[in-house]
Amino acid sequence: MTRNLIIIGAGMASGRMLEHLFETQPDAWNVTLFNAEPRGNYNRLMLSPVLSGEKTFADIVTHDAQWYEANGVTCRFGEKVLRIDRDARLVVGENGAVPYDRLVIATGSNPFMIPLPGHDLQGVIPYRDLDDTETMMALGATPGSRAIVIGGGLLGLEAAAGMKAQGIDVTVVHVMAHLMERQLDEAAGYLLKKSLEEKGITVLTSANSKEILGTDGRVSGLRLDDGTEISCDLLVMAVGIRPNVALANDAGLAVGRGIHVDDAMVTSDANILALGECIEHQGAVFGLVAPLYDQAKVAADTLGERTAAFIPKEVATKLKVTGCDLFSAGDFAEGDGRDDIVFRDPARGIYKRLVLQGTRLIGAVMYGDTADGAWFHGLIKDRSDVSDMRDTLIFGPAFQGGTPSDPLAAVAALPDDAEICGCNGVCKSRIVDVINGGATSLTDVRAQTKASASCGSCTGLVEQVMALTLGDGFEVQTVKPMCPCTPLTHMDVRRLIKSRALKSMAAVMQECGWTTSCGCASCRPALNYYLLCDWPGEYQDDDQSRFVNERMHSNIQKDGTYSVVPRMWGGITTSDELRAIADAADKYAVQTVKVTGGQRIDLLGVKKQDLPDIWADLNAAGMVSGQAYAKGLRTVKTCVGTDHCRFGTQDSTGLGIRMEKALWGAWTPAKVKMAVSGCPRNCAESTCKDVGVICVDSGYVLHIGGAAGLHIQGTVVMCTVKTEDEVLEHTAAVVQLYREEAAYLERMYKWMENVGLDHIVARVVTDADSRRALADRFYFAQQFMQQDPWAERTKPAYRALYAPLADLTLEAAE
Ligand SMILES: Cc1cc2nc3c(=O)[nH]c(=O)nc-3n(C[C@H](O)[C@H](O)[C@H](O)COP(=O)(O)OP(=O)(O)OC[C@H]3O[C@@H](n4cnc5c(N)ncnc54)[C@H](O)[C@@H]3O)c2cc1C
Ligand code: SF4
Repeated sequence: MTRNLIIIGAGMASGRMLEHLFETQPDAWNVTLFNAEPRGNYNRLMLSPVLSGEKTFADIVTHDAQWYEANGVTCRFGEKVLRIDRDARLVVGENGAVPYDRLVIATGSNPFMIPLPGHDLQGVIPYRDLDDTETMMALGATPGSRAIVIGGGLLGLEAAAGMKAQGIDVTVVHVMAHLMERQLDEAAGYLLKKSLEEKGITVLTSANSKEILGTDGRVSGLRLDDGTEISCDLLVMAVGIRPNVALANDAGLAVGRGIHVDDAMVTSDANILALGECIEHQGAVFGLVAPLYDQAKVAADTLGERTAAFIPKEVATKLKVTGCDLFSAGDFAEGDGRDDIVFRDPARGIYKRLVLQGTRLIGAVMYGDTADGAWFHGLIKDRSDVSDMRDTLIFGPAFQGGTPSDPLAAVAALPDDAEICGCNGVCKSRIVDVINGGATSLTDVRAQTKASASCGSCTGLVEQVMALTLGDGFEVQTVKPMCPCTPLTHMDVRRLIKSRALKSMAAVMQECGWTTSCGCASCRPALNYYLLCDWPGEYQDDDQSRFVNERMHSNIQKDGTYSVVPRMWGGITTSDELRAIADAADKYAVQTVKVTGGQRIDLLGVKKQDLPDIWADLNAAGMVSGQAYAKGLRTVKTCVGTDHCRFGTQDSTGLGIRMEKALWGAWTPAKVKMAVSGCPRNCAESTCKDVGVICVDSGYVLHIGGAAGLHIQGTVVMCTVKTEDEVLEHTAAVVQLYREEAAYLERMYKWMENVGLDHIVARVVTDADSRRALADRFYFAQQFMQQDPWAERTKPAYRALYAPLADLTLEAAE
């Protein structure tokens, strides 16, 4: 006997289920198919190629009118189901009720619309069906039209690329720091952003939408929480989906995030099945089509009274944007006991990362060359033991069983006209010629050909050509790389950041071929500093890439408490400030109050959770962080000078205060200390500081390069100047030169040893244009740097960082 089967939703899951059903039990069911959309099953995945104009809607229809007719399906398209009456076993549609023996719910998802002010304006749409696609396509007909896409995930980016292909000016606004953060790591996200920008799409990351703007009830723009406004004619929200459970809920079925189903796709009512994005199976919900196809087969089997069970598998993601090849599968988050294998080819924009746990591959992310994606995905799904091929795994299936390639053999195989140095256009034969002509060192080759003399990234290759040509006679120079993540030195990396305008950590790691996915504890703080120094105002400080004291904005002590040092400009304080410090000392039970060697007051023994409050109190008394923990300006120590001392020749205290007010907040490669003494008796000990000033009758003698720590070093005289303004300009210039040229953690005296005093004098003293330009760059950066970190950290958003850790010993005892 033919029984009534009703299906609600003609989507991708139910379409596939019907195919299985008619293959295995052609005459068993009298099928009625409801669909709220005014059309039957089509390949929703392919809406993006329709949007970009690569396909038409007709191309993506999976089941046409003839197919439904041939299989006897009663189609009620464009009719929404309003209610399920489980007692009467009826489905109530907009045009009347139909009885069922078995019911399948396949209602998919609802796009989530962030309830921002203005979300209900006309022209604010999701991206889910053909109507949305047609709305976007229609916009392309008006030249100069603009669209915003909120959401830099799979769907948002496909919408953006499709609209761009229609000639629309598109901006993507994404709240996270990199695109597709759930599928991609930072490096692959960077490459994706770069190629979308090359297509002319504007991509704003770390951008938080605040309000959708409208005119006469229609969308006209978007305001971000930093005040930026972007105008648009259409706003597409693609920020996520929620299982469409309304009917199931109303009918009293068991529903969590989605409609609860068992392994056979049966809901809490034995006569009702559910599948697709509307379900929840063992706590999981679904947003990609591969598992839905497995569910479709199981549901068809269940309807045919065959035993079948749905087993979730690893799924892989690809983005359907022409020219953006990306692949992601499995788990690639950080975790204990996990190893990364990373391959980067900066010139071809290729990035591959494999994540291994023990002997198994558990995750893979690829950008630029995804040809081996399916093979890696197979290894992940099958939980294969990959230990035998670990050395060559990243090169894909073609290389398995072979031996790792010999780099020298690869260079030997290069033709004579192969370009070795891209910056200076030097080919292999030119380098071989100069070697045959007598050049025996890298310096000789560099001088004669310019190979590796610009950005330096080909140095290794040049050395390999030398090793091949000179044989055993050539010893590869051992330059100390920045860290184990790269063969490049600090200076190579600094040069590349400048010459290639690299403005994010991910950009540096990709373009300089880092061998790890996210760097390490040594390179991240250094890169963070270099980027901050080279791109002030553009690069956002990455707090997580700082050492603990800088992250906490106070010094951690041996018992885990912190020491707090407020700034006392030039070592001067007031009775009000002293009272505020004394009050803070009482209120926060400060263990010790100590005067530091730099003439500041140190409050020692502050508990971590009290830090924001003590800072707030000190801020309220007008005091800011003394940055006694910073790789930056710490103190300007002064003597009393002409104010009180009978030997003083100048206002040393006043000058010290001016210097400290001008220079505080600047990040430098290592700590910087300064002092001003009113006469050569040098009571402020200016001759062991990074920059020291000795006032004399005729003006000011500027000393640089002193140190009084593990290494004791007297200063050398840089120059003598006549006015305080000149002191400030010379000081800003020399600090900026140090900022721009030193390696991270290199103290000023070390940098001076490396570059030589003559170089510093030439740039800062004799060449007035150079000095002014350096000082200008310093002051430009200062407008972004002079923000008190304490004031920032007392804001509610940061306070949680300082909350005490849970006391687990107590819980365990209970
Ligand atoms: C633009 C786009 C691109 C995508 N690209 C990919 C991709 O590349 N890879 C991938 O794996 N996945 C992709 N997806 C996701 C994939 O399309 C979905 O996972 C899949 O379509 C879900 O299938 P489904 O049958 O559960 O729901 P749907 O296909 O959404 O079908 C549900 C149907 O139910 C109907 N319905 C809902 N309520 C009622 C009601 N009360 N009465 C009657 N009918 C109702 C709806 O109108 C809809 O037609 C993409 C999705 C979109 C929107
Ligand atoms: S350095 Fe000179 S001016 Fe300053 S306190 Fe000492 S003696 Fe006086």
